[in-house]
Amino acid sequence: MQMCPECNKIYDESEYSKCPYCSGELIEEYGERPYKVCPNCGGTMYWDDTWVCSNCDEEIDTDEDDYDGIIED
Ligand SMILES: [Zn+2]
Ligand SMILES: [Zn+2]
Repeated sequence: MQMCPECNKIYDESEYSKCPYCSGELIEEYGERPYKVCPNCGGTMYWDDTWVCSNCDEEIDTDEDDYDGIIED
């Protein structure tokens, strides 16, 4: 693995001759986070093995796929 001196991202130099992030070949996916709306307080719940409310600590034990929307940064 190789760290790009420009953007400090790690890439596989056997697959890419130059940094794929800087060259635009790869776009790093980040900042997308599924969330649920807490039925208890209306706050935002995040996935952490179960759904946990960031506001009231309510938990819902369902699937990671059981989200209400995606937060994008
Ligand atoms: Zn780079
Ligand atoms: Zn809550």
